[in-house]
Amino acid sequence: SLGDKLQSAFKDLRGKGKLSESDIDGALREVRRALLEADVNFKVAKDFIAHVREKAMGEEVFGSLKPDQTVIKIVRDELTELLGGTQSKITLSSTGMTVIMLVGLQGAGKTTTAGKLALMFKKKGHRPLLAACDVYRPAAIKQLEVLGQQTDVPVYRMPPNVDPVHIASYAVDTARSYNRDIVILDTAGRLTIDEKLMAELRNIKAEVHPQEILLVLDSMTGQDAVTTAKAFDENLGIDGTILTKMDGDARGGAALSIKTVTGKPIKMIGVSEKLDGGLEDFHPDRMAGRILDLGDLETLIETAQRNMDAESLKDAAGKIRKGEFTLDDFLRQLKQVRKLGSFQSILGMLPGMGKFKDQLKDIDLDGKEVKHIEAIILSMTPAERTNVKILNGSRRKRIANGAGVKIQDVNRMMKQFAEMQKTMKKMRGKKMNPSKLGNLS
Ligand code: GDP
Ligand code: MG
Repeated sequence: SLGDKLQSAFKDLRGKGKLSESDIDGALREVRRALLEADVNFKVAKDFIAHVREKAMGEEVFGSLKPDQTVIKIVRDELTELLGGTQSKITLSSTGMTVIMLVGLQGAGKTTTAGKLALMFKKKGHRPLLAACDVYRPAAIKQLEVLGQQTDVPVYRMPPNVDPVHIASYAVDTARSYNRDIVILDTAGRLTIDEKLMAELRNIKAEVHPQEILLVLDSMTGQDAVTTAKAFDENLGIDGTILTKMDGDARGGAALSIKTVTGKPIKMIGVSEKLDGGLEDFHPDRMAGRILDLGDLETLIETAQRNMDAESLKDAAGKIRKGEFTLDDFLRQLKQVRKLGSFQSILGMLPGMGKFKDQLKDIDLDGKEVKHIEAIILSMTPAERTNVKILNGSRRKRIANGAGVKIQDVNRMMKQFAEMQKTMKKMRGKKMNPSKLGNLS
């Protein structure tokens, strides 16, 4: 991952009492390579390195006590800048009606995001209305109607032969008369950018004057997302972007380039297919931390507060900090994990856990493997769960029998858990506040 590569770029700096200019240049060359490999735009990467270099030279890292950390801090601050600096929210009109227009290519996630936004605003006490302006595929209208049913938000639709400009306009009128305060327009997309689509979107814009035109981008498409963003901004004018599928592998690259190339902020990110909890506010500093894999406990706790027993999670976070995370805690988290979204997205938020993602990628949460893990832990005595050191051969055999698995399954799980615990212990006592830099070890 980009995080691993960036970390290894700093490895050579670590432990050095003094840094030379060529030490820094060596590290920055690797950082540059890592950024390019993560699909960061060439010019963005080049400017990024130039900024970091300039700052590093200015900050007298050479004489400082922990030069590697100073350089990492500079990289982190610059990443945050690149991602937009401060958080940028969706602006709602202070008086009356807000119109949000979602645009983007086919498959980017517009319709799904429309449903997620509707639910998010509804939970905040608003009265949203969804409008089906993608009239070219009958299935698109149906898809939005299903989302409307699931979120209990009304969907405005007209027959497929009606001009989307009229639909948008009538939807806003209808929202007014039914005392709805937010209209979310789900518009049509194409596989590639074409002038006909742009003209249609411009006409909708001119008709209903949306407060927010948000471009929905598939983060998995890397540089294509950046090209798309540029084209939509030039041809239509956008107020910000929503990056979807950030739960996929390709995170980082697109996010890092889009703000710089368009000058428009990333406002939200899609982190799962789920309507509830699948959309998050975008925090540049947290994202920078996640890319550097310094962990993002704040987002984790926020997600938890929305979706699950927050106390248990805070407790877990505290235990992770203290290096006291036991199999019991592990079991409890596993059971709640489904509510949070993918296992991977949770791991991404835990400090130092990024490297386990590949290893755990294939675990199917509803599948056999997790049931095995649950069964294994449940077959242990409380003492064994708290102190895995006592698990000798005969105990493992008893557990395997009890759980109905092979002893190798028990051993494998114990190994995974031990590695996880080791990493957690390493984080012990280190600062988790994303605004401060933790030690990388
Ligand atoms: P549209 O053509 O732009 O309206 O795209 P859709 O909303 O139909 O989404 C295309 C596909 O991407 C669907 O299968 C969605 O479930 C999926 N999708 C959208 N957003 C996300 C996300 O944030 N994470 C994941 N994993 N899938 C997403
Ligand atoms: Mg759609």
